[in-house]
Amino acid sequence: MQICIVGTGYVGLVVGACLAETGNQVIGADVDSTKIYALKQSIIPIYEPGLDRLVERNQSAGRLTFTTDVAAAVAKSEVVFIAVGTPPDEDGSADLRHVLAVADVVGRSMARETVVITKSTVPVGTAAKVANAVAKHARFPFHVVSNPEFLKEGAAVDDFMKPDRVVLGAESDHARSVMAELYAPFVRTGKPIIFMDVASAEMTKYAANAMLATRISFMNDIANLCERVGANVDMVRRGIGTDDRIGPAFLFPGPGYGGSCFPKDVKALVKTARDCNAELSILESVEAVNERQKRRLFEKLHHALGDSLSGMRVAVWGLAFKPNTDDMREAPSRVLMEALWAAGARVRAYDPVAAEEAKRIYGERPDLELCSNVTEAVNGADALAIVTEWREFRSPDFDELKKAMREPAIFDGRNLYDPKLLRQHGIHYFAIGRGENSPA
Ligand code: NAD
Repeated sequence: MQICIVGTGYVGLVVGACLAETGNQVIGADVDSTKIYALKQSIIPIYEPGLDRLVERNQSAGRLTFTTDVAAAVAKSEVVFIAVGTPPDEDGSADLRHVLAVADVVGRSMARETVVITKSTVPVGTAAKVANAVAKHARFPFHVVSNPEFLKEGAAVDDFMKPDRVVLGAESDHARSVMAELYAPFVRTGKPIIFMDVASAEMTKYAANAMLATRISFMNDIANLCERVGANVDMVRRGIGTDDRIGPAFLFPGPGYGGSCFPKDVKALVKTARDCNAELSILESVEAVNERQKRRLFEKLHHALGDSLSGMRVAVWGLAFKPNTDDMREAPSRVLMEALWAAGARVRAYDPVAAEEAKRIYGERPDLELCSNVTEAVNGADALAIVTEWREFRSPDFDELKKAMREPAIFDGRNLYDPKLLRQHGIHYFAIGRGENSPA
């Protein structure tokens, strides 16, 4: 099939490369000329495991091309994916400006019967707005489909290639058959394509992310209670995660959820509910708990190191909102570093891939030093905070660590270590939700 993906960010680039891999002709179109210039030379502007090889292979095979000319790309295609950003507006609702701008271009530029797919996460009712925007100028029949994306950054290629399920909101036979053909190579193991109406597909994406965010905030609440009552949340997590009705995923307490999806999608769903006088009190609490949790590491540091953090040197391991990505959108590391700076502390940070992104966000500043390895970051530090659970942080040489630091104190936002072991090494250790170790 001849396909155009509008938006070559985390989602659009992965979707485009994967669809090219199964033999389609794919054009990735984006208004960001710097990004397109890089992509044309097979330089991937984001870190995503396996994506560079996939893009390069399909470019070399002539199945994947890139352009800034969105209209020309649409005109050549029978299927158009809209994969542009839907950032939160000031009131928390999803900002649909980019989506509707693309829909307008699609209407003006399409040159045949076209299936128009919203891949971006959009509130219920958006497909109708997209259809109206396309219809204004359309000279050919078109079909609007909602196809929410469930890939996870850090495992995006695998997730798209081997989805648990494909959710498709489609209202016409033509759209259903085109989409079934497009996704057939990805569901050969028998994973389902779930067809439904457009509104339900749009809601499914928000409900999925809201459920996952709820599990995280729930566990963070339980973790904080564990600290108060002297229980160990890791034991509790294992105790409940083995219950088939609960399952083990998304039960890890931590420094709060971040990233480009959970925070904005929870906010947008709460706003949708308010707009139609429905109550989503659980989700309002999920959000409030998360805001509080994001300050938890700082509070622990503050409590343990005393009132004046001014002049102290704090090592931070992990800047990305989770491992295997360089994405720092809404990352807990940002809340921690900004609180440390406000208190007058200096940060020596290390992340295996997100240093460039940190530089882009914060620029040069005297109280941030971006280090090139774990050891450099802890050198002379008064404390170490672990924010992202990168694999290389899991088994450090604790003796070396102790020698390198001015004060051997670890504030572990991911519960990576055995408290007993750290005690043996003479390191003060503060984790999340383990009553015996927490001073807060
Ligand atoms: P992103 O910011 O990485 O990429 C969006 C791209 O769209 C950018 O390259 C931007 O230049 C481009 N763009 C914006 N307006 C445009 C226009 N008018 N024409 C052409 N290109 C335009 O965003 P993302 O993380 O890929 O997310 C895209 C959508 O997918 C969002 O709605 C998001 O909620 C959803 N989503 C994201 C993830 C994720 O893990 N990142 C997962 C599932 C769903």
